[in-house]
Amino acid sequence: MEEIILISYLNDFIFCPVSIYFHKLYGNLEQTLYQRDYQINGKSAHRTIDEKTYSTSANILQGIDVYTEKYGILGKIDVFDISKGILTERKNKITEIYDGYIFQVYAQYYALEEMGYKVNKIRLHSLEDNKTYNIDIPEKNILLKDKFDKLIRDMHEFKFENFKQTNRKKCEKCIYEPSCDRSLIC
Ligand code: SF4
Repeated sequence: MEEIILISYLNDFIFCPVSIYFHKLYGNLEQTLYQRDYQINGKSAHRTIDEKTYSTSANILQGIDVYTEKYGILGKIDVFDISKGILTERKNKITEIYDGYIFQVYAQYYALEEMGYKVNKIRLHSLEDNKTYNIDIPEKNILLKDKFDKLIRDMHEFKFENFKQTNRKKCEKCIYEPSCDRSLIC
């Protein structure tokens, strides 16, 4: 059986697959030891959802666990408006729409569709500057859908022992660098 992938690991994998190992390893330690400000701020964007303070409407799903069997991905959705079919993922501040952001909502999209919901629209919302970005649903952007499919395939087939980092710049920016034996920084 394939290992289940967590939605939160999609971004990590795109950055560097080894960082998932450290993410798991340090996951239970005091977060301020290993996370930089922007990551901690990102978590606060989800706090109202985790504490279910966003809405009490029966038409809004918030912070619920979802799973897509087709892709073997498990995680939480941020906000889904059932009546309008709008799926929204809030980030603290969006300065660029990274593929990782899009693929996280794609995983949520597929999970909701498998649960029988109709998702008409996907949006990313930047809290700090109150900006909303519309994202194509996968069926309307075949290029991105193919990239998503490939990413999930790569994640399921990934062999830790075969991985070799080739991009030094990533290691320079990596919070796990001091502990990593694959680092390119000597
Ligand atoms: S230090 Fe480099 S190889 Fe190690 S996890 Fe970070 S980016 Fe990946």
